[in-house]
Amino acid sequence: MATPGKFVLLDRDGVINQRIPNGYVTSWDQFVFLPRALDGLRLLKQCGYTCLVVSNQACVGKGLITLEQLGEITRHFVDEIERHGGHIDGVYYCPHRMEDGCGCRKPEPGLLIEAQREHAFLFEETYLIGDTHTDCLAGERVGCRVLLLKDGQADGRAGLGRRIFADLYAAAEFIATAV
Ligand SMILES: [Mg+2]
Ligand SMILES: [Zn+2]
Repeated sequence: MATPGKFVLLDRDGVINQRIPNGYVTSWDQFVFLPRALDGLRLLKQCGYTCLVVSNQACVGKGLITLEQLGEITRHFVDEIERHGGHIDGVYYCPHRMEDGCGCRKPEPGLLIEAQREHAFLFEETYLIGDTHTDCLAGERVGCRVLLLKDGQADGRAGLGRRIFADLYAAAEFIATAV
């Protein structure tokens, strides 16, 4: 049983693995871990944090990949994280396209709420690590502690009082030392 109150929500592409510019990861061989991401996930596990992934994957709704294929990629990366001493307790995807107008595609908070319902954490005690303004908005709407990775699509809007880190390991170190 995880310690109550120690949860981290993580975006996937641009946080754990490299984003594919103007595209999607549609097979395992396209999934490339970002530097120090595996170490960051291990550090979070060592500090007793439960890690959950919340990720938009419109590639499903666009027909570029099936849910089954997405599940295969998920199994691979979760296994790889486990091999490196980390652990992912849940993976939540929005498979919809922007024009579907769903409630789970970030910046909508639906995915975060789904994760919260299953794991019963308090949003205000939970960290969200993202690489885009969209991730930050979703986290801020439910009152998470938002950490933005500078690499990726961070732009002028990234300021806004958000804490910015170079990579997942740096964000994990901040969480590990925060009281
Ligand atoms: Mg991202
Ligand atoms: Zn959705």
